[in-house]
Amino acid sequence: MVQDKWQVLREYFGYSSFRSGQEELVDGLLAGRDVFGLMPTGAGKSLCYQVPALVLDGVTLVVSPLISLMKDQVSALIQSGVKAAYLNSSLTPGQFRLALERASQGWYKIIYVAPERLLTESFFRVAERLPISLVAVDEAHCVSQWGQDFRPSYLKIREFLNSLPQRPPVGAFTATATAQVRRDIVELLDLREPVSVCTGFDRPNLRFEVKKPADKYAALVSLLQEEKGQSVIVYCLTRRTVEEVCERLCREGFPAVRYHAGLTDEERRENQDAFLYDKASVMVATNAFGMGIDKSNVSMVVHYNMPKNMEGYYQEAGRAGRDGSPARCVLLYSGQDVVTNRLLIERSSGENEELEEEQRERVRKQEEERLKKMTFYCFASDCLRAYILHYFGEQAPRRCENCSTCLQGGGERDVTKEAELLLSCVRACGRGYGKKTVAALLAGGAAAAANDTVRRRSLDQLPQYGALSGFSVKEILSLIDHAIGRGLMEITEGDYPLLALTQDGESFLQEGGQISMWMPEKEEEKRTLEKRKFSVKSREEEMTERPELYEKLRVLRARLAARAGVPAYVVFTDRALREMAGLLPLDEQELLAVNGVGRARLERYGGEFLRVLNEYAQEHGKNS
Ligand code: ADP
Ligand code: MG
Repeated sequence: MVQDKWQVLREYFGYSSFRSGQEELVDGLLAGRDVFGLMPTGAGKSLCYQVPALVLDGVTLVVSPLISLMKDQVSALIQSGVKAAYLNSSLTPGQFRLALERASQGWYKIIYVAPERLLTESFFRVAERLPISLVAVDEAHCVSQWGQDFRPSYLKIREFLNSLPQRPPVGAFTATATAQVRRDIVELLDLREPVSVCTGFDRPNLRFEVKKPADKYAALVSLLQEEKGQSVIVYCLTRRTVEEVCERLCREGFPAVRYHAGLTDEERRENQDAFLYDKASVMVATNAFGMGIDKSNVSMVVHYNMPKNMEGYYQEAGRAGRDGSPARCVLLYSGQDVVTNRLLIERSSGENEELEEEQRERVRKQEEERLKKMTFYCFASDCLRAYILHYFGEQAPRRCENCSTCLQGGGERDVTKEAELLLSCVRACGRGYGKKTVAALLAGGAAAAANDTVRRRSLDQLPQYGALSGFSVKEILSLIDHAIGRGLMEITEGDYPLLALTQDGESFLQEGGQISMWMPEKEEEKRTLEKRKFSVKSREEEMTERPELYEKLRVLRARLAARAGVPAYVVFTDRALREMAGLLPLDEQELLAVNGVGRARLERYGGEFLRVLNEYAQEHGKNS
């Protein structure tokens, strides 16, 4: 029986509409065209090839870089009633042979395959006889050495396609791609006049926050307490930090596990599963964790250190809130992060022996530039979301009202005069002092008197002394951050972080310019502000109607998931449960209207969920 895309979308996946960009890519593949989908993490790229796979005759091959990713996607598909399998090195030779045999008999509609398998004799012999309806290349940026996760085996995809008796349509999908990587994808995969879709990068349900706590660990603990019991990923820059943070969290009773490239395969798998199956709610990891992880209910991603570029940051942060629920992305910045990143960049450019000296230097420069942009993000005093979107070349409203700078309250203010005073003061100080001293000096009065350096060096003799006396030290500090974020000043390396004027800062002083900045509300208005800051939880609670029922549904889901041996979110996402609790569907028809409930899941789990829902309705009435 041939089904159209709408039937497939409803029956297998339980969705009633396509998300932005999906339909165009689905239609492209259905028409036999190549396609190229560039969409942010969580946008729903898998569906773009899974729907055509089920509409078209024949079998779809999906090339994917990670074993964990394949396993996850295949079990989700099987739950949706799709015949799917994966072929990679995690199978025993016996299992592999069996899967291949079934594949050759036409058992499967979708086969996930590791790129290094494509041209092996055993696989290719089967593949060349299969009626392949399309080949999807997931995480397509892996083909480019300009991307972040270059995998040489991806270069074999093209050869594989060309060796087939007939070249099927090819779909390439990725979440991160600069212009260079985009060109590489089209060229190295040999995409032929692809239908290209690049959807907006915005993820409105994510709240972006930057904090600069004196004690990062304490800040992390209080964040975890705010998100109690929810799944959280904590990214650290180095293996050592992962170990330290994880160990301390465990000692203090948090259910945390760790993940980095220095652990055994076995421990990595165990820890990843513990996290996916909700046995451990906190995952402390380096950036080795997460590509292709489709855990839909991550409520917060904390960066314990600033990562080395915005591409990496946005991809990692994007693992929060995949199911569309409100989620937080919190970055904990410290000056040391810049130093560590510089070291890491230095080291990795030195390690790559394939590069000529000149190339190496260019790559290093590029990385330095990216690091600078990442640092500016941490110092942005305007909307963080706007900063991110501009970075990826998109337009954005000035304010999103859902990031830590927008939620600060306050108002836009012209600070050109103040910035000039600040810059001239920094120039006069000539790389001699840090932020705090400069701020105290400009504030004058009691603040300056309390500052040792100002007293000892008699800085009160400078003409700029007390020039910003109408401002608090804190306000001057945020003005300094703003100027750093605009590239007018920088913090120098060395034993003490010192302020220095940049070339742009020098030009600003000479040629003039205009600067405005968002000034937070004054101290006395702080209390309402705090309330707004922590409205994340209450917003989520507001979203969850009938919390006791939601809890019951979660318990049922956990039981069914354990029985089926799959992570809970594979049975139903949090969002689907929340909708059930809100809509209180009482029969199959009503249950099908819930986002994420399709035929297969209805048949498999519908009865048990309806029982709980009906019980609840009887006890409380439908309009409780
Ligand atoms: P990506 O690969 O782009 O990061 P996924 O394909 O893993 O994203 O999808 C992310 C989530 O969005 C999944 O939980 C998926 O079920 C959900 N999703 C995808 N398409 C739709 C849709 N049309 N309606 C509702 N949810 C969707
Ligand atoms: Mg994906």
